[in-house]
Amino acid sequence: MSDLQTQMDLEQQGVLFTTINKLYNWGRRSSVWPMQFGLACCAIEMIAAAASRYDISRFGSELFRASPRQADVMIVAGTVTKKMVPQVVRLFNQMPEPRYVISMGACATSGGPFRDGYNVVRGVDLYVPVDVYIPGCPPRPEALLHSLMTLQAQIDVQALQQVRWYGDDEGVVNEFPI
Ligand code: SF4
Repeated sequence: MSDLQTQMDLEQQGVLFTTINKLYNWGRRSSVWPMQFGLACCAIEMIAAAASRYDISRFGSELFRASPRQADVMIVAGTVTKKMVPQVVRLFNQMPEPRYVISMGACATSGGPFRDGYNVVRGVDLYVPVDVYIPGCPPRPEALLHSLMTLQAQIDVQALQQVRWYGDDEGVVNEFPI
């Protein structure tokens, strides 16, 4: 009898097989805590996703943290102005690894309806690395939930040694000139 057949037989009897990676990723994907901040109207939809109708807690992300030190994901929800970029980069730098970024809505992704303005940047990904983009102006709360599930799928296949480390030796992304 092959090892695989033996494993399948044992699994049918209720024996659980796993790996350190799977166990580690299951824990991480089940409690992706967002940072509590919003930049413009998209943030209202983010807040709606956390309320009872959409109930983001079903995905383990109900704890919006006021401190970046306790957050796993930065949801950039709204228009990123040039004045706000240094603060966004600083908050990202203060998050512990592994950390993730969701770009929520047209403004955060490309500047949206304000992309030709003098005061808005054409995408937050010019300054911090983005893992998932959500289209829309504004995206509905369901879209934010979908982006969270997309991020969870990415975490599922992330090996321990593949956890990214951005920036310099201390993980600090340089604050680019705007
Ligand atoms: Fe507001 Fe639309 Fe920009 Fe979202 S994408 S911040 S809803 S203008």
